[in-house]
Amino acid sequence: MRHRQAVTIVALMLTTLAATPVGTESVDWTVVARIREEGLQRSRVMDFESYMTDVLGARLTMSRDMQRAQQWAAAEMTRIGLVNVAFEPFMDYGVTWDNEYVSLHLLEPDYTPMVGYPLAHTTGTNGKVVAEAVIVDVQSRADLERYRGTLRGKAVLVTPPVRINTDAMAVGTPRLTDAELAALERTVIVPPRPVAPRVVRNPDLLTAIEKTAFYAAEGVAVVLQSEGGGVGSVWGFSRPGAREDGWARAGMLASPAIVAVTPEHYNRMHRLVARGVPVKVEVEVRSRIGERVEQAANLIGEIPGTDLKDEIVMIGAHFDTWHASPNSSDNTSGVAVALEAARILKAIGVKPRRTIRVALWNGEEQGLWGSRAYVRRHFGLPRDSLNPPKPAYEKFSAYFNQDYGAGQYRGIYLQGNEAARAMLTAWMEPFRDFGMTTVSNQSVGSTDHVPFDDAGLPGFQFIQDRLPGSAGHTNLDFLETINPSDLMKNAVVMASYAYHAAMADARVPRKSR
Ligand SMILES: [Zn+2]
Repeated sequence: MRHRQAVTIVALMLTTLAATPVGTESVDWTVVARIREEGLQRSRVMDFESYMTDVLGARLTMSRDMQRAQQWAAAEMTRIGLVNVAFEPFMDYGVTWDNEYVSLHLLEPDYTPMVGYPLAHTTGTNGKVVAEAVIVDVQSRADLERYRGTLRGKAVLVTPPVRINTDAMAVGTPRLTDAELAALERTVIVPPRPVAPRVVRNPDLLTAIEKTAFYAAEGVAVVLQSEGGGVGSVWGFSRPGAREDGWARAGMLASPAIVAVTPEHYNRMHRLVARGVPVKVEVEVRSRIGERVEQAANLIGEIPGTDLKDEIVMIGAHFDTWHASPNSSDNTSGVAVALEAARILKAIGVKPRRTIRVALWNGEEQGLWGSRAYVRRHFGLPRDSLNPPKPAYEKFSAYFNQDYGAGQYRGIYLQGNEAARAMLTAWMEPFRDFGMTTVSNQSVGSTDHVPFDDAGLPGFQFIQDRLPGSAGHTNLDFLETINPSDLMKNAVVMASYAYHAAMADARVPRKSR
């Protein structure tokens, strides 16, 4: 009896929620209260975050790791209660690449294990190799002659010693100060970008691709390098030329083994060689390179709309990461927030008028490939005769993205869309106590809301507190970079923005063009 009564009450509440349209610039405080309660008292955001970080790990675009992780995410979306969960392949994306093993040691003059990670899309070493380290400074074609025939079997140190950014040693989650938020709130008129003078490349200078090809042709045992960063941290990036050859198997196999080393270990080797002390290293890298070209896919799921179900509100984040760590902040945290926002809305049983679509993008780190292809295919592009705007273009409301680390939302960037100011400001009101107060006219870039904005569709990033020395893209981006309460609040805010955008009398207005 108690049980049945409870069910009836829930059913009544659901009916009420479904029947309350939200004015364009008003807030549905009843639903906000339920979103806050679900998201702050029964949050699952750290379940998502820790599973992705600890169990799934790094998710390089077009890797077995990524494919396995996407299967988990699809299942999780279904468990949450999203419908139309689907992989959407968007491009032939070369062959898979996964690092399976790396071992790097200084043998002489003083034994120590060293920390390094292979660049993505490079080949491995031929088993365990012991090699003498030499400094190589190849910049011009003339330099090639200086080194030709001298590098076979050597471990070549190809970058100059790096400076360590000690600012990155700070830990914690400092908040944006009032002054910083006020500065963001100030309208900044950005002058039109001056036309950049055409850069004429000195044909004598070698490109990174040409240098890499030279090391391979000379038969080096391994290329060692360091691009700097914070203490103990290695940037995980990609072989020069991988993009140009379309992540091709032949390109990967033809590359030398290239290992990025922590600044401390790299600098020590460099100093020793410069001092004339013989340096011997032992290195082994095994990477698994796929046999055939495969399609990279985005992952999509939906909370279906009701009377306006053809109109779309989107939330999302990029699911792919660089490969040297699980990238707990970049962008595992954005994915956890998007999944949790969707879970909250399903858990409280809202029936949005517009469809709320969750997108977990792929190929972001190499150039926003997934979101760009998605916008082109689903909505079309103005001024692109090959991909003209589709009916869905007019029906689109807004996209909300998270990708500036794992810090708490403190406001939202209008992306220059003054027409959206009233709506986005009104929906912020329930989260003053989170410190979410700032609307900035500024435009920000480098992530998946950009293709929407470029197409003239409302696409937004939240203003976020920054973790100093953010570990994104490095080998050190683990669960320790995460402040759980920040992510809980972010998910609540994202859920509420998605809900209000889905319920408002009008779609989020666009910039006039
Ligand atoms: Zn990112």
